[in-house]
Amino acid sequence: MNNLSAIAVFCGSNSGGNELYADGAAQLGASFADNNIKLIYGGTHKGLMGALADALLEGKGDAHGIITQRLYDKGHLHAGLQAHEVVATMRERKGRMDELADAFIALPGGIGTLEEFMEVWTLNQLGEIQKPLGLFNVNGFYDPFMVFIDHMITERFLPPEHRHSIVVESDPQLLLKGLQQYQPTDVPKWLPIV
Ligand code: AMP
Repeated sequence: MNNLSAIAVFCGSNSGGNELYADGAAQLGASFADNNIKLIYGGTHKGLMGALADALLEGKGDAHGIITQRLYDKGHLHAGLQAHEVVATMRERKGRMDELADAFIALPGGIGTLEEFMEVWTLNQLGEIQKPLGLFNVNGFYDPFMVFIDHMITERFLPPEHRHSIVVESDPQLLLKGLQQYQPTDVPKWLPIV
């Protein structure tokens, strides 16, 4: 079993067009508080990030925000966090999140969320880190994305084992269980030429 005392969550700085997304973010925040898992995240009060942090803090959970100077100056920092860091760039921020987190979860979001998730998936694939990662598939948001991932497999740009190295769940407890049980694949990234 993997020790998950701190998990980094990537998610939208918008709330999405359906209340189910904010409900999902709040569910995840509450289950972090219930399971004594520290939240590492972008540090803002905006969008799903705000809904996640609010629910976690309401459940007496612990949140550590890492925000860029630029976003801090715009007033985006969530005022209720137990800890925060202000860093110079988004790149630096991702590095700090990777250092502090035992695992990663992406909730629904936009290009920022996807970029952060894809980076940690790639680092795992290349063996630079070996940390569990998963998608919280609220309202089937990631179904079209997984269809595209399957297309990468069909077209031989991705080994199928690497598809199964991420946990995709629509229930927060199952997602956390999947991350605890995660085992890194030893299948190499590079496929034989056919
Ligand atoms: P997006 O999915 O495009 O809304 O981008 C969300 C991701 O980018 C989050 O996981 C954050 O790390 C980062 N991000 C974007 N906007 C903000 C913001 N206002 N405050 C903090 N982080 C942000």
